[in-house]
Amino acid sequence: MTGKVYLVGAGPGDPKLITVYGLECIKNADVIAYDRLVNKELLKNARETAELVYCGKEPGRHGLIQEEIHELLVKEATNGKMVVRLKGGDPFVFGRGAEEAAVLKAANIPYEVVPGITAGIAAAAYAGIPVTHRDYATSFAIVTGHGRAEKGNDFLHWEALANGIDTIAFYMSVGNIRHIAGQLIAHGRDKNTSVAIIERGTTENQRTITSKLESIADRIEQEKVVNPALIIVGDVVDVREKIAWFEQMEETIR
Ligand code: SAH
Repeated sequence: MTGKVYLVGAGPGDPKLITVYGLECIKNADVIAYDRLVNKELLKNARETAELVYCGKEPGRHGLIQEEIHELLVKEATNGKMVVRLKGGDPFVFGRGAEEAAVLKAANIPYEVVPGITAGIAAAAYAGIPVTHRDYATSFAIVTGHGRAEKGNDFLHWEALANGIDTIAFYMSVGNIRHIAGQLIAHGRDKNTSVAIIERGTTENQRTITSKLESIADRIEQEKVVNPALIIVGDVVDVREKIAWFEQMEETIR
């Protein structure tokens, strides 16, 4: 009998932020193929006999590794296994989950998608930043900011982003922040717009740095920000001054 593949979102970092269903999938899996950003704590819930396969994506080797992952999912499910494909955050937010679903569909293998909490919302929340707010923001966009103009792969609609969206969460963007901030300002966003950078969001090593659009690139260099990190642009960043909680949290019962 054919097995089944579960494309599961592991949540943003804090292992408690996985869904009940996601955790159930981990507990029942024969094979767990997990990504680099998945909190390894979660794997302790796997059955002793479960096979754990690390699918870390090294930059520059994307194509090949993704192919291998597809082959693994199809092979194991064809052999009747219950396979969990565990991805950081949500599997359909910059997670290539849809590509894997398409491969499974084509191979006639049953699958389910188990959503997860995406980093852009969760890391912001742990930094005391609501992505929408009655007084500050009525729209929110999730954007990948790794496109470089000089490489010809910056396809973002900067005019619309700068003027039409209140809060923008930039994923995969730390190395490209000078270009991003410059484009937003050049297309009309106020250079004094608040920006937050959240490093290792929702983990015990979370660090949040705030600045203004015109100075954020320098701050990121000075502070030697490491990945994974997210950039939140918008007035909602100022709400942090009033409601930040995570970094100040005393030892409390969780
Ligand atoms: N599917 C994931 C995103 C994968 S893309 C999700 O839904 O969250 C990888 C990018 O996500 C990183 O470059 C970083 O910008 C962001 N990211 C993931 N985990 C993060 C974390 N714990 N803190 C800050 N940013 C994170």
